[in-house]
Amino acid sequence: MSAKIDRLTASTLNRFSGVRLDRLVDYREDASWQKQQLKNQNTRLVPLWRSRCLVEKTADQNYEAVYVHPSELQQYNVIREPTLLGKKDDQVYFAVTVNDQQREHLLKHHNNSEFSDLRILAGDMHPLKAGILAYAKALHYWQHRHTFCGTCGAANILHSGGHRMVCSNDECGRQTFPRIDPAIIVLVSHGDACLLGRQARWPINRFSTLAGFVEPGESLEDAVVREIWEEARVRLKTISYRSSQPWPFPAAAMAGFIAEAESRDCEIGDNELEAIRWFSSKELPQLLAKGEIYMPNRVSIAFQLVSEWYLGQTGDDLRQLIREMQPSGPGRHNKNTC
Ligand SMILES: [Zn+2]
Repeated sequence: MSAKIDRLTASTLNRFSGVRLDRLVDYREDASWQKQQLKNQNTRLVPLWRSRCLVEKTADQNYEAVYVHPSELQQYNVIREPTLLGKKDDQVYFAVTVNDQQREHLLKHHNNSEFSDLRILAGDMHPLKAGILAYAKALHYWQHRHTFCGTCGAANILHSGGHRMVCSNDECGRQTFPRIDPAIIVLVSHGDACLLGRQARWPINRFSTLAGFVEPGESLEDAVVREIWEEARVRLKTISYRSSQPWPFPAAAMAGFIAEAESRDCEIGDNELEAIRWFSSKELPQLLAKGEIYMPNRVSIAFQLVSEWYLGQTGDDLRQLIREMQPSGPGRHNKNTC
């Protein structure tokens, strides 16, 4: 990986990004085509139960997404019509919300499967499959949270293959589209050091980049400047966009930046963080080796930003460094990331 990596490549390195699924936008209004696809042997459903995804543990302690054929659920009444996700390698994918009874049926017929939290497992899955699950989970969450019209309170009805809702009250007819909350996440640097913070609720000694939601009336850059001042009382000299990541926990889209601070003066600004600290690129591996700090979750763009900064500073791959600190090899139990 080059320190001057182009932005398209940079975003594909972030987990859940770069799936490049053909989203079949032209077929979203074609209900009969979708019905036909649900009878196709190649079609697969991505089942979701209470925002959890169906996975199975593999022999090497990783996780595999479990997709099911529509015929496996045909004996049950559907909660909602399956949502058209798209096509990859001649296979059409739909997301489907399952109820408790359907959940039991699927667990019974798929050995070693479980409905699990994607956020925990994503690092131990094939990136393409994690990306499809993230896409399905995001739509599932939006549909679940918009069952009723926000204007008149009548029931919403799914349209456009699950990508649009229309109020069932003819006098209202309000349309609702999938919602995403834009957020910024920033690695602040000064000289050979970067600024990381930690929240009290995080695992002990975990530090990460600073982040926050974009507020109404702000550009992404305005949000970067405001958040860093609010959280760390740091003024920025320059900011540079790096990459982005879908983050369906529950509905964010993260825009990652590296910013240069005017000085190392800092203090905790609001109540969001319990500690902030500058870490030099020289001391970072030493602190990691001693277990005095842990890096952010390695599926997050936060880890990617720290890695990109560290590579630029030292020419070394932080991920490889952490792997070497753990002789047992990479995995979700790696102690240097949380
Ligand atoms: Zn309405």
